[in-house]
Amino acid sequence: MKGHWIHNQWVENGTSENIEVRNPATEEILDQVSAGSEREVNHAVNSAKTAFDVWRKIPAVERAAMLHEATAKMRIHWSELVELLTLEEGKPVSENEEEMEWVAGTFDYYAELGRHYRGRVLPSPEPENQLNLVLKEPYGVVGCITPWNYPLLLLGWKIAPALAAGNTVVIKPSEMTPLSTLFLAEKCLDHLPPGVVNVVTGHGLPVGESLVTHPDVPVIAFTGSLQTGQRISERAAPMIKHLHLELGGKDAFVIGPDIEIEPSVKALAYSALLNCGQVCTSTERVYVAENVSRDFTEALVEEVKSLRLGPGIEPTTDIGPMIGEQYRAKFETHIQDAKLHGAEILTGGRRPPQFERGFFYEPTVLTNVDHSMLIMSEETFGPAIPLMTYKTFDEAIQLVNENKYGLGAVLRSNDSRLIKTFFEEVRAGTIWINDPLTDNYAGPFGGMKMSGNARELGLEGLNSFLETKHVHWDFSPEVKDWWYPY
Ligand code: NAD
Repeated sequence: MKGHWIHNQWVENGTSENIEVRNPATEEILDQVSAGSEREVNHAVNSAKTAFDVWRKIPAVERAAMLHEATAKMRIHWSELVELLTLEEGKPVSENEEEMEWVAGTFDYYAELGRHYRGRVLPSPEPENQLNLVLKEPYGVVGCITPWNYPLLLLGWKIAPALAAGNTVVIKPSEMTPLSTLFLAEKCLDHLPPGVVNVVTGHGLPVGESLVTHPDVPVIAFTGSLQTGQRISERAAPMIKHLHLELGGKDAFVIGPDIEIEPSVKALAYSALLNCGQVCTSTERVYVAENVSRDFTEALVEEVKSLRLGPGIEPTTDIGPMIGEQYRAKFETHIQDAKLHGAEILTGGRRPPQFERGFFYEPTVLTNVDHSMLIMSEETFGPAIPLMTYKTFDEAIQLVNENKYGLGAVLRSNDSRLIKTFFEEVRAGTIWINDPLTDNYAGPFGGMKMSGNARELGLEGLNSFLETKHVHWDFSPEVKDWWYPY
């Protein structure tokens, strides 16, 4: 049973209410965490507010050293972190190794970027006796609210830049995957001054919402669903907070007319089924050029059938379980809706009979789908690959853009004319040509349209946690001729 992590120590919950954290592969209870309340949020925010005055004044080079030390501690606790991620989230060990590489790399990247700049100097109206400075300053306490699908990666993308910029943080992890966050705070971030990093566990209501409406939290960095993002926007708007929203997606994958079948099939299977299709940038709809459609579809079905389902902790597993019953049930409504409206299931389409426990679902390839179906319009967040064909590339572009989300999009092609049209015409925050879902520490990640308004990683990711102040400094004693009297 875990409490909250506030001011570098465990704090007991005000009530005896707990949340059970389950292994989605076995449904067994892994541990329990406290279901916090406004009281614990207030405690954590007070701690972070006090720590801000200390942390922001520490020279950036010393903050950088402390962030590098966090990475070093992650390397010491690597296998425990990977195991914990695998047990609470479900995806295979190799994917959690990769998640940890991202967390460690992000800390190292922002440790250095944080001491890179403080703003800029402008040419002044009177250059001999004036200086004009644009200062970049930390905001104060940043509320970080994270989802369950990449519990530490999405946390790292927020807290590493926020801390490097001189802010302090209060974290509200997903109630489904809080254990790895608590472990990271206790074992890898405990050398930071008390109050710089705080974790309050609990449900969105009341913990997340108390953070969103707290007057001493000027920035909310949130990753999660569109619905929750909209709710947060409503609650935060009257307080004019800075909202950094990374929301849902319905990413498209276009198979060009000139592709080689085998590598394209493998790229698509990875892009759609990584983390059992529960990545915000998972491929959720596929548009295949008509001339290659038959051969491509046959090869894809063979590839998908060859993938091995199982608990993430087993080294032979390609695809783990979904996160929970409620998510699998929503996924099934999309499959049912598609079938009802004429879709054909080419493989999958059921819970695998070999597993008595765990939230498994067979990876599913569908054809005869169209945009009137939920599976082609709403975020499905599961192991489905719905395929449509197109005749002209213009038609493909139109289909890709026909969605409220705009997180990422993928094209497989080597035709430079098609590639240029694709990255210029598609409205999405990340465009992948041939190599889906590969990120870059220095490359900003985030969505267009209803996928959100934030950018994580890169210089943009640091700037999200820095406020801009203009200083006009005149050091001459003269009276200006535009002052009174006129
Ligand atoms: P969710 O919106 O249900 O929950 C996310 C977090 O918000 C959780 O910690 C939850 O407790 C909290 N929360 C819930 N209600 C709240 C409220 N009223 N106020 C404040 N906090 C509240 O999302 P989820 O199911 O955990 O995650 C899956 C979603 O996240 C998908 O839609 C996926 O696309 C999205 N996602 C987006 C990105 C991205 O970078 N754009 C990355 C990963 C996941």
